[in-house]
Amino acid sequence: MRTEEMNVLLKDPLLRAVAKGKEVFWLNPERRSAAAALREVSLTEKDVSEAERLLRRFAPVILRYFPETAPTGGIIESPLTEVPRLKEALCAEGTEIPGRLFVKRDGDLPVAGSVKARGGVYEVLKHAETLALSHGLLSAPDDDHRKLTTPEARAFFSCRQVQVGSTGNLGLSIGIMSAALGFRAIVHMSADAKQWKKDLLRARGAEVIEYQGDYGEAVKNGRARSEADPNSYFVDDENSRDLFCGYATAGERLRAQLDTAGIAVDASHPLFVYLPCGVGGAPGGITFGLKLAFGDAVRCFFAEPTGAPCMLLGLLSGKFHDICVQEVGLDGKTRADGLAVGRCSSFAGEMIRELLEGESTTSDGRLDVCLRRLFDTEGLFVEPSACAAFRPLEDLCATEEGKAYLSGSFSADALSRATHIVWATGGSLVPGEIRKELLRRE
Ligand SMILES: *Cc1c(COP(=O)(O)O)cnc(C)c1O
Repeated sequence: MRTEEMNVLLKDPLLRAVAKGKEVFWLNPERRSAAAALREVSLTEKDVSEAERLLRRFAPVILRYFPETAPTGGIIESPLTEVPRLKEALCAEGTEIPGRLFVKRDGDLPVAGSVKARGGVYEVLKHAETLALSHGLLSAPDDDHRKLTTPEARAFFSCRQVQVGSTGNLGLSIGIMSAALGFRAIVHMSADAKQWKKDLLRARGAEVIEYQGDYGEAVKNGRARSEADPNSYFVDDENSRDLFCGYATAGERLRAQLDTAGIAVDASHPLFVYLPCGVGGAPGGITFGLKLAFGDAVRCFFAEPTGAPCMLLGLLSGKFHDICVQEVGLDGKTRADGLAVGRCSSFAGEMIRELLEGESTTSDGRLDVCLRRLFDTEGLFVEPSACAAFRPLEDLCATEEGKAYLSGSFSADALSRATHIVWATGGSLVPGEIRKELLRRE
């Protein structure tokens, strides 16, 4: 980026604070009504309901390869858990939350143990179905998908590759699912990726290629290697509509869960959702799905680490993928390894530009505090990336700006009936030793 252009950008005090690595709370001036914003974007409700239908077609296959999905009949979904003791603890520290507080436990999603089980699994299954239909392994989309588990089908998949670049969790999801179906899975991993994730992938039959550089480099190399091979499919985290649609199925799923729990969401029962953001696909897709399901009654906030606030930088500058955090002097490093991304996805950024309510950035130190507090109060363990989601909740409920936004948007009555959901995006696969270490950190 040119120096003059950067100097103009840095005139914005908020962007300057972001560039200095300060924690900020930002309300999106471009947010519009859900109806108006949804009309402008390139995906529709139909794309998301098609994704949901595909996931249902594959449920018998998932059930066969992942018996742990038996309770939901092969559908990969996570529990929604109310956390009243955590709410009390937050209140004691000065964050008084109007309404009820829940954690959406995507760390407990079967197969991949993180939010990536939504998008990643869907994209692999969609690719498998497309191949199967075009090569006659399935005669039609409503054919019995268990045919894809026969030795012949597995032999067919084994001649084909699925590749992906990842900081860790996307690799786990794509690698585990592809290898389970019989594909040759190749995962290109950045230096931030944790050793245990590489070990787990190899144990599940995926090939792991390691890079010294960051996520961007892993993606670049993975893409180049995949493009050189006609039998290889590359999962493109930064531009994938399939990943996005897979994440978006969370909207209707959450609606069903809230219905079952007897929790209303409408203008007088607002829903606030807090989502950790890396490249933006997962929180973006979920935001899109939630807006389709609940319209203006849901308000979505992103959270990023102060060291790698690529989406906020992309939104503030309007440059999305064309600017990286290193250009404004940040190092892109954070212990929230799932969020250690220097450049956001332009696709995700454009999708949520007018749907997103706001965002907070968080220091790494605060992640440790949140991680321990959730464990001490509720016995729930989540990984550091997931902890970022507590920051916008606290900013909304405990800062003057946040409280002014709340009282300006809803009546006190409506707020007292609000539901807050912290989207806990990962954690169940973190090995015991590393959990202990994370819980000990001061
Ligand atoms: C990937 C990931 C995110 C963010 O998803 P993006 O699509 O990269 O924005 C958040 N939390 C965890 C645990 C993740 O693995």
